Amino acid sequence: MTKFSEMGLPESLRHTLNHLNYTEPTPIQSMAIPIALGGADILGSAQTGTGKTAAFAIPSIVNLYNNPTNTALIMTPTRELASQVMSQFSSLLGRKTKIKSALLIGGDSMFKQLNQLRNKPRLIVGTPGRINDHLKRKSLKLDNLNFLVLDETDRMLDMGFSIQINEILKFAPNNRQTLLFSATLPNNIIKISSKYMRDPVRIEVEKSIDKPLNIEQEVLYTRADKKYDHLKSEIDHRSGSIIVFARTKSNTENLVKKLSKDGYDAFSMNGDLRQSVRNRIINNFRKMKFRILVATDVASRGIDIPHIEHVINYNIPEHQDDYTHRIGRTARAGADGAAIIFITPSEKSKWIKMKTSLKLDVAVRGGEAEVEEKGGKISRPNNPKKNNRRFFTKQSKKIRSQKRNRKKSKSNRN
Ligand code: AMP
Repeated sequence: MTKFSEMGLPESLRHTLNHLNYTEPTPIQSMAIPIALGGADILGSAQTGTGKTAAFAIPSIVNLYNNPTNTALIMTPTRELASQVMSQFSSLLGRKTKIKSALLIGGDSMFKQLNQLRNKPRLIVGTPGRINDHLKRKSLKLDNLNFLVLDETDRMLDMGFSIQINEILKFAPNNRQTLLFSATLPNNIIKISSKYMRDPVRIEVEKSIDKPLNIEQEVLYTRADKKYDHLKSEIDHRSGSIIVFARTKSNTENLVKKLSKDGYDAFSMNGDLRQSVRNRIINNFRKMKFRILVATDVASRGIDIPHIEHVINYNIPEHQDDYTHRIGRTARAGADGAAIIFITPSEKSKWIKMKTSLKLDVAVRGGEAEVEEKGGKISRPNNPKKNNRRFFTKQSKKIRSQKRNRKKSKSNRN
């Protein structure tokens, strides 16, 4: 395994890595960084949580240092991921950097972006739609682009961005280095890699889902009309920050209304909110100003908040990859985490398919409408006692008593 000290990184970057406590490279970093520094294109399969952002950010920065007139472009599927990627770049570049950057994401102020672009940024991070808008109105030029990263490419294609990516790359010089990362490498990605890349080196880190991070996963079989009560009970029995995934925007809003009425500290986040509002919500969640974030899959990728301890899948995700990304919001950077999914009888067959295909190791908890998973028998967690102990922590007792006090003081006020 190549260490950071053996990669020939500039002194200032080594110093920043130390400062960030990146003592050892993660496997994807030790594979990708030396190859990218050698100038080759990379076709990488790696998921979030593996350190892949720094795996492409470090060589991008070295490239910007070494080629003072060139620019780097990083494309991501969602605005949240783009903001997250930009903040990792900012940490790695340090406050004193002379390298100017622009974050080009939809829903954000055009005025602010035009101002950033007037400063001749050399690092551009953004989503395909808005990057394309700027290219068309000629506020962005990619003539000096020599380093391109396509991040979470499978997701970009799922979201229908392939035409936009095609359009954008018409503006970019062919003589560039391209790094393409994707959680999965299906045929359509292999196809675009042969179109956009030259002889890419293929690297793969063990799919984190085959070897889940430190996430204890459970499924709770229940009925639709019982889900909300289960949600409250799960929240009460867990400690720390929780992210709840619901399918639609109105699901998130209704759940937050109900939870708030019942005295819980919850906010919703979905794609319909203005970007500035989404940023504020994420920042407040990051700062632990509230405990429960109820989100659609907009929030399933890229959000890197180390203190999220629990993921509750209130609805089954549309796509199986979303499950991986949802649960990956917990157990960040080596921490422990727990995830539970509620499954109603009508969702059972979809869930079983998802579970089998992702090779998930999930403990089963029976609810009122227990649904048999295999051969008429419900499998139980290996050690149910241990599981119960885990959730009935001192912290959750404290939360319950806080809730009782809140209710008491509310009724006193009335
Ligand atoms: P990513 O997969 O890029 O979303 O990164 C997951 C998390 O790992 C982020 O919180 C990073 O800051 C952190 N991270 C990335 N590389 C390292 C490293 N070499 N050592 C420690 N933490 C890291």
